[in-house]
Amino acid sequence: EYKGMSKERIMEIRRKNCNPMTMKITYYKKPVFLHQGYMQWLWDFDGNRYLDLFAGVATVSVGHCHPKVAAALQRQLSKLWHTTNIYVNPTLHEYSEKLASHLPDPLKVVYLTNSGSEANDLAMLMARLHTGNFDLLTLRGSYHGGTQQTMGLTSNSSYKYPIATSSGCTHIMCPDVFRGPWGGSHCRDSPVQTTRQCSCAQGHCLANDQYIGQLKETFATSVPSRIAGFFGEPIQGMGGAVQYPKNYLKEAYQLVRERGGVCIADEVQTGFGRTGSHFWGFQGHDVLPDMVTMAKGIGDGFPMGAVVTTPEIAASFAKAFHFNTFGGGPLACAVASSVLDTIKEDDTQQNSHNVGTYLMTELAKLRDTYEIIGDVRGKGLQIGVEMVTNNKASRDPLSPEAMSEIFEDIKDMGVLIGKGGVYGQAFRIQPPMCITKEDVKFFLAVFKKAIQRYMDKE
Ligand code: PMP
Repeated sequence: EYKGMSKERIMEIRRKNCNPMTMKITYYKKPVFLHQGYMQWLWDFDGNRYLDLFAGVATVSVGHCHPKVAAALQRQLSKLWHTTNIYVNPTLHEYSEKLASHLPDPLKVVYLTNSGSEANDLAMLMARLHTGNFDLLTLRGSYHGGTQQTMGLTSNSSYKYPIATSSGCTHIMCPDVFRGPWGGSHCRDSPVQTTRQCSCAQGHCLANDQYIGQLKETFATSVPSRIAGFFGEPIQGMGGAVQYPKNYLKEAYQLVRERGGVCIADEVQTGFGRTGSHFWGFQGHDVLPDMVTMAKGIGDGFPMGAVVTTPEIAASFAKAFHFNTFGGGPLACAVASSVLDTIKEDDTQQNSHNVGTYLMTELAKLRDTYEIIGDVRGKGLQIGVEMVTNNKASRDPLSPEAMSEIFEDIKDMGVLIGKGGVYGQAFRIQPPMCITKEDVKFFLAVFKKAIQRYMDKE
């Protein structure tokens, strides 16, 4: 119970006083009533413990209520909560310098926001002001935010309303080598590859040529010859941890720049060491964006977001006052600064790499065993498991009902994971980066059992 409220009473308030859509996204048939969190663990009101492998959509980076981060927040809490940016707030400066030191030149100018949507909204405006162009490109299946502007970038109909939202956003074919028309079994930067046949020759990815060909067709047919920019997640998050062929982003960036556009890496999910091999997801693609947007893991669950860009783009944006009351407030900056320190001290990036690689390798064995596991992919602790019907070759997505059944069973056995993909067909594993190999072994046993139980019933 919370403040004497029963679960029934909480659900009654949810029905009456909360956004009606929240009834649909309790995520589980029997919702989880969260009470407490510590590192990779969550507890519900009944005292049940869950291994959290979703981290509130890749939001908790170093661990729930991480003692170091909580202590930093508490220190700041009794000092100063709020100054608007009309005064000089030292925490913002300390943090901006520290964050910028994690990015390569010339990405050195930091704008702090309160969410990822706000960061992408700002990046859209900056790209348009800087280039003097309007059109923006994103990949199908992407999620970039839920504000009216960023909704135009987002490419998943579940999040779209049947009215005019932002214009000037074109969605290009997602170079998904598992589900897309062109497969590639050696094309992604992941410890596991698709089982789809690869027609690549001598290290050259022919699937990539085809997907880049689709981008060129978009340039020929759907947007003006001058564009404002391209938004891309280094690995899609809500899309189900979709990865692109190794050279896709590099070639896409070049084509976009030839048309006057700037390139924006949405690191809301992939940043802060989650992909293991690098601190930022874009580094795994060997590209240098003009803007990087971030949120979620930046504050280990504390509301915050940021855009980091170049001095040139910042100068183009300085044509009017940009004001944000809470963006870069003392609490958020104290937390985020401690998160950066903790990532280093706890070596979470290396842990992401080690534990994530082990998990994906083991999941690939299950993929080879069970007909309904179509694909395993990802990097570090940004992992997707794509579920298909009992005919793997068809790649038909497993039905939402079947996905829910397995999902619920996994939860009832004490593990929380996520769902995603355009058809809701992918399980997503994006835990706090402090999880251990032991946790992974427990999850694998639970996952196997849930799959087996579902198969036995079919
Ligand atoms: N970009 C990506 C890649 C995201 O996953 C999300 C949130 N799921 C956002 C942007 C939007 O962030 P927020 O919900 O903080 O506005």
